[in-house]
Amino acid sequence: MTIVARESNSVRTSSTRVASENTAANSEVGGSRVDSMHWKAEFKSAFRDVRQFCEFLELPSQIVEKATQATADFPLFVPRNFAEKITKRDPNDPILRQVLPSILENESAEGFSKDPVGDLNSQRNAGLIHKYHGRALLIANGVCAVHCRYCFRRHFPYDLAPSSLDHWESTLNTVREDTSIEEIILSGGDPLTMVDENLDRLISMIESIDHVERLRIHSRLPVVIPSRVTDALLSRLSQSRLSAWLVIHSNHANEICESVGESLRKLQSSSVTVLNQAVLLRGINDSVEAQVQLSKRLIQFGVIPYYLNHLDPVEGSAHFDTSIESGIEIVTEMRKQLPGFGVPRFVKEIPGEPHKTVLI
Ligand SMILES: *Cc1c(COP(=O)(O)O)cnc(C)c1O
Ligand code: SF4
Repeated sequence: MTIVARESNSVRTSSTRVASENTAANSEVGGSRVDSMHWKAEFKSAFRDVRQFCEFLELPSQIVEKATQATADFPLFVPRNFAEKITKRDPNDPILRQVLPSILENESAEGFSKDPVGDLNSQRNAGLIHKYHGRALLIANGVCAVHCRYCFRRHFPYDLAPSSLDHWESTLNTVREDTSIEEIILSGGDPLTMVDENLDRLISMIESIDHVERLRIHSRLPVVIPSRVTDALLSRLSQSRLSAWLVIHSNHANEICESVGESLRKLQSSSVTVLNQAVLLRGINDSVEAQVQLSKRLIQFGVIPYYLNHLDPVEGSAHFDTSIESGIEIVTEMRKQLPGFGVPRFVKEIPGEPHKTVLI
């Protein structure tokens, strides 16, 4: 079973539905439906087949063979415009290595498990993870716009999470009864794979809980499919009574092209504060140069580098692991080269701790 195919409230759910919406959109030139056609089309046309993807990138056949031998439970998924940022014929490209399945994922390693950050123990009820004071994280869906090979939730049992508006209502009742919760974090999967209509309804439900003050969205979509930042999304967020925060996820400067930058700027113009979180990944961004470039690219577009995460030890990702010491060294050096707001906190999530542990 793939994560992509699972949900009922997202764009992938039924391709028939997307198709009919697109058809309807044709007659509504300039409307929000036209606006949302682009990202839905990008989602539909994403690479899902390892061989096709490798062919597009003109990779050598040994690489292709190895990639096809990776475990099948988390298949390749890469939108075309994201794939276009990968340098052809380069097996070490920093974006390619984040998305190409590897035979190394089949290996188990000591300390690497299916639930590395104790998500399942922190669930208050279906899909609500309440670990930290004042903030509760809602697994809004299980669909992502790209499959990152190091994903710490790659084994998360999304089937158990709420997947319809009715389910959310009962999950949010827990929030309604707990006045200590001031912030709802929409996570997943990727909450922005939901269509604008459903997102609107979910946000309205959250707004109806008086003690909730902040809405935070954790999403990789503005980076992976920047056209997801639709006018409907922007106006919904700017009109909300909640203060809106968006935490994007980008690991390398090459991911942030001009159209990503433009979408990030639009979000900020709509009163959304945009932060980035990255993961320190061996062979991808574990150098001072890569991290400085990433930070410069982010701050150029007004995005604050928030967290640099030490890899969560999820089964199948040991080949991406770096030492904590090397991360500390990188960030120490970054501090000499960047303004203070351009240096992320290097953090690790240790299950049972009351907040993420700041390593430097
Ligand atoms: C990371 C995380 C948060 C947010 O933590 P911040 O330090 O406020 O960014 C909240 N809930 C869960 C379950 C998390 O993993
Ligand atoms: S976008 Fe986030 S949740 Fe989705 S696969 Fe990548 S790291 Fe995992």
